[in-house]
Amino acid sequence: MILLDGKKTAAAIRSELSEQVAELATTHGRAPGLAVILVGDDPASQVYVRNKEKACENAGITSLAFRKPADVTQQELEDLIRDLNTREDVDGILLQLPLPKGLDSQACLDLIDPAKDVDGFHPVSMGRLALGLPGFAPCTPAGVIELLKRHNVTTAGKRAVIIGRSNIVGKPMAMMLWGYGDFANATVTVAHSRTPGLKELCAEADIIVAAIGRPHFVTGDMVKDGAIVIDVGINRTDNGLVGDCDFDAIKDRVSAITPVPGGVGPMTIAMLLKNTVQSYKGRVGA
Ligand code: NAD
Repeated sequence: MILLDGKKTAAAIRSELSEQVAELATTHGRAPGLAVILVGDDPASQVYVRNKEKACENAGITSLAFRKPADVTQQELEDLIRDLNTREDVDGILLQLPLPKGLDSQACLDLIDPAKDVDGFHPVSMGRLALGLPGFAPCTPAGVIELLKRHNVTTAGKRAVIIGRSNIVGKPMAMMLWGYGDFANATVTVAHSRTPGLKELCAEADIIVAAIGRPHFVTGDMVKDGAIVIDVGINRTDNGLVGDCDFDAIKDRVSAITPVPGGVGPMTIAMLLKNTVQSYKGRVGA
């Protein structure tokens, strides 16, 4: 069984990026800059943002934080995004989701300059991904692909079942797995809350990607011997952080599996840094 160690892999990517950033900053006179907008005081969002800031700092990327109270107006938020779109020192703009009630997150995402859309949530980024054109891919599914690549786990010709159809994980994950290229070419089924016969569907899958948000939703009887299991779920329980898959019931029968924590989570941040460096390179002409 291959343990798809996201912590180690992400650390390797971050170290490669910091070497690149040091060199690029010397040549081009400035470091890449990532603007992070955090609205309100959701505790999980605060932790995510702090982790992103720390990761930027360690990689030599300038992190510019914009913290706004929960009662910020839509207008004020949109003005901030418009301003960040024009700033030379900002290569990436990240709007931490979810936004507090009353704010229109899609309207804000739509305003982000696609050239700075390092989260890959802008309709242009999603469209380019769907068409197989270069652009920013959402960080979590991109992290899954990178994790598989770096462990030499291939997907071509395999049957994949993705559980969850969210815009940030399930949908882009499907596009990345069924697309062209060395690490795609899988035959993909996207399952969701209205999918009948999910157990049987999963039991036939060569690859399962779980992105549901329910602790231990994927049980041992849903996974066939030798399958590849990617657990995207992050669930806070009384027993700490757990994934969407029952790791202990599955681990001895699969060919590869991600742990939670230490699997997909760290890869998401590494991909955010990678996208920021990619944006910077495009903008400075490196
Ligand atoms: P979401 O709530 O937007 O989507 C959940 C999906 O699960 C929906 O499409 C829904 O149809 C499906 N679902 C719900 N109940 C189901 C059922 N009984 N059977 C089949 N499908 C069902 O969630 P999301 O934003 O995609 O996140 C999913 C999980 O991944 C969460 O735990 C989240 O915290 C985690 N997550 C982790 C990372 C990371 O970096 N590791 C990033 C994003 C999300």
